[in-house]
Amino acid sequence: MGKKNLCGLTSDEISDFIGPDRYSAAHAVAISNSIYKKRISDIEQISKIPRRLKEELMTIAVCGIYMPLASEVSADKTVKYLFRTEAGQEFETVYIPDNKRNTVCVSTQSGCRMGCSFCETGRYGFRGDLSAGEIVNQLLSIPDAEKVTHVVFMGMGEPMDNLENVVKACRIITAEWGLAISPRNVTVSTVGILPRVEQFLQRSDCNLTLSLFSPFPEERKKNIPLEYQYPVRTIIDVMKNYKVKKKRRLSIAYVMVSDLNDSDSHLEGIKSLVKGSSVRVNLVPYNPVANDQKIASSEERMQFFKHSLVVAGISASIRKSRGTDISAACGLLAIR
Ligand code: SF4
Repeated sequence: MGKKNLCGLTSDEISDFIGPDRYSAAHAVAISNSIYKKRISDIEQISKIPRRLKEELMTIAVCGIYMPLASEVSADKTVKYLFRTEAGQEFETVYIPDNKRNTVCVSTQSGCRMGCSFCETGRYGFRGDLSAGEIVNQLLSIPDAEKVTHVVFMGMGEPMDNLENVVKACRIITAEWGLAISPRNVTVSTVGILPRVEQFLQRSDCNLTLSLFSPFPEERKKNIPLEYQYPVRTIIDVMKNYKVKKKRRLSIAYVMVSDLNDSDSHLEGIKSLVKGSSVRVNLVPYNPVANDQKIASSEERMQFFKHSLVVAGISASIRKSRGTDISAACGLLAIR
């Protein structure tokens, strides 16, 4: 049998693994701090545990931190990394530096089975789920790991399709014994698997963003097939009725395509979906996928949408596209 990966275990699980009757909870926390805060990849280097425990661990476990296989740097300094799971499936991670805010966009699956029309990952198809350790490792192993301030689950995969590992990864990322990143700085995206969205809202404090694409069901079905199963209005109702606590952010991501979903009627449709709630709208320029004639809405049109939403009392912002030249921007991850 292979050795156990410690990366991906909670502090309690580490405690169970080393034997709570033989070692204290403080030893488990010392191990989790070494892995998640100091990013130690060699058990020998773990501090504040007895020599005997180190020797025992070395025979049955590894830290489980492994480096990316390759990287590519964009003109805007965004970096895309290629990883491979233990099972041999590839996935990508994007590091987005922006003054004091440095974000890692993590993948939750190799590929994706949701088949959204505006996304290269959907075309790549589904290859497999990532474990909690494989999700967290994306934050620990990149060269700029210590500068990371924000995490978005917007890389390859639909996070709600791998809920257990995503909830566990969120816990490790936000826990004091883990990476200790505030849940306010962690955002998980979804196209809306309704029962899983409800579970996520109950089980995690991290932010949630729903990818809308169109406020009109028939049009959304053509672009996000999951709309057939879980109508977006029902999901937004769940988000609206959820009692938001401690500044948790619930939002909608609206990818804007010129002459497709940026008409005045689309704008009114978005307003009617979210009005009277604390759900925010994040407008995202479309990044054209291969062999596609569609283009992003103009800057002016996006500003008009933002302004109209704000005037209607809805919080709205425009997200910049980063790493487009290396296919690292939203919707472009597909292992090239
Ligand atoms: S947009 Fe998200 S859910 Fe849809 S295919 Fe792409 S990765 Fe999957």
